[in-house]
Amino acid sequence: MENGQVQRVMEDSFMNRLKKNSPGESEFHQAVYEVYESVLPVIERHEEYRSNQVLERIVEPERIVSFRVTWMDDNGVPQVNRGYRVQMNSAIGPYKGGLRFHPSVNQSILKFLGFEQIFKNALTSLPLGGGKGGSNFDPKGKSDGEVMRFCQNFMLELSKHIGHRIDIPAGDIGVGGREIGYMYGMYRKIENQFSGVLTGKGVKWGGSLIRPEATGYGLIYFSQYMLQNIGDSLEGKTCIVSGSGNVAQYAIEKILELGGKVITASDSSGYILDEAGIDSDKLEYIKALKNERRGRISEYADQYASATFFPADRSADHNPIWAHKADCAFPCATQNELNAHDANNLVQGNVMLVAEGANMPCTPEAINILRDNGVMYAPGKASNAGGVATSGLEMVQNYSGSHWTSEEVDRRLQVIMKNIHDNCLHAAQTYNSNNDYMSGANIAGFIKVADAMIAQGLL
Ligand code: NDP
Repeated sequence: MENGQVQRVMEDSFMNRLKKNSPGESEFHQAVYEVYESVLPVIERHEEYRSNQVLERIVEPERIVSFRVTWMDDNGVPQVNRGYRVQMNSAIGPYKGGLRFHPSVNQSILKFLGFEQIFKNALTSLPLGGGKGGSNFDPKGKSDGEVMRFCQNFMLELSKHIGHRIDIPAGDIGVGGREIGYMYGMYRKIENQFSGVLTGKGVKWGGSLIRPEATGYGLIYFSQYMLQNIGDSLEGKTCIVSGSGNVAQYAIEKILELGGKVITASDSSGYILDEAGIDSDKLEYIKALKNERRGRISEYADQYASATFFPADRSADHNPIWAHKADCAFPCATQNELNAHDANNLVQGNVMLVAEGANMPCTPEAINILRDNGVMYAPGKASNAGGVATSGLEMVQNYSGSHWTSEEVDRRLQVIMKNIHDNCLHAAQTYNSNNDYMSGANIAGFIKVADAMIAQGLL
């Protein structure tokens, strides 16, 4: 058999077995396949990864807990949701990864997120394993009291499985400062100890400065390093950003600081286009709208005459936010929000860089189109790693009882993002995938975790 055929047979048997062992978990299969394709040259070159069955082991979570969460709504009616924690891999450190509260949450989504987290955390160079958790609870439209009762009951069970040296959750979609606060309070009460068991805590009670900003800032630092690598910068670039939550808000903030122009923001109800640009005053409006009033992005267009709101059309085969002409695009909302059609639209608009703020926002077909057309593409596991890296810095501050200034945390964040950038390029070059950030990120993350797994024996 020729090389290509050997690869195809390996691929078929590995992916078939994965699908058989995790039926219906399409997001998980998608995330695994991306890594699998990238690391094949590594597996071929290193017999020890094959003989130790590292790939087969790394796709199997070390543990999954799933539990019932009951809570009382404001009308006195008992409600029930399902909670999860997927503890994916602890070879290089305690499990670390966010909690997502969204109606779409299921085991497949959390396994894909936990799997991505293994490699992302390895890339940060901090000793962090991979995990993810959450619930199909929807905080949208709930009162503070309802959210509090849900969070407390969620933590009642989750507390049995986490710990500041075991598993340290953080926020994600639907879990911000409010939810972390309610969960942390409950954990403290149950365990009778003040520890760094969650990150993303308030600055006055153990949190780190710059943690809220870190994912969005890190994304833009990473993108700036990519541009600098080709002698360019974000200065004067027109950018499309999707989402209007934590990651999107701070990505926009940093783009503005670096001299770029942002023309869009979105939420699940649609997107706004503001050709005049979202300036810092308008960004403050978005922050207040989403973080305090918990309103919808359509209200931005009521506030600013320069903007138009386009409602989401779930039946459409593409997302029109990506059809606008821009130099750079930053998907910062959710998984699979940018498909092949959207990628073609971006290419037609001469986009030069697409960097993922969200986890797996681009479909595999979209990624292929971007790369085939010479668009610089950064996978989320590298470009959005600033959030978990700064969570790692929060853990270091908690362990040592210290509190660093914003400047100090931001400086460390920039160093980490630069190292991730350089490590991706180096790994890509070592395996003949020049300047391919996706291969580089997967390879660099994989090698670190695979070596640790082998060193620790068959577990
Ligand atoms: P938030 O909950 O703060 O914001 C999410 C944003 O995405 C909101 O604007 C939300 O709109 C929108 N959104 C969510 N689901 C959908 C959907 N199905 N269709 C369209 N829009 C949607 O979450 P974050 O900003 O924290 O997270 C965004 C992404 O970044 C996620 O993929 C997350 O996993 C990833 N990420 C986050 C990190 C962090 O530190 N927070 C770290 C690394 C990655 P609406 O308000 O209508 O729900």
